[in-house]
Amino acid sequence: MSYRRKTDGSIWHWARSCSGWPMHDFRQREDEPSTWGGQTLCDECDSRVRATDSHRHIDLQNDLLPSWVLQRMPSLRIPYAACG
Ligand SMILES: [Zn+2]
Repeated sequence: MSYRRKTDGSIWHWARSCSGWPMHDFRQREDEPSTWGGQTLCDECDSRVRATDSHRHIDLQNDLLPSWVLQRMPSLRIPYAACG
């Protein structure tokens, strides 16, 4: 994952869909930035990436849940149905 911050900024972004994602005049690194020295991680990036991850998580669980589990434990269907 790539992290970017504006050359003259102190907020690191890592979601390309973030409204603050720097397109030019930025520093980039591939590991998670340290947050000392006044540098911070972007709140908007955090919420955007979280939303993406939770969708992926639900899809993965549905794929991994075999049909025999659903037949023996029909209550497992409920949370997934509520999500969709
Ligand atoms: Zn951001």
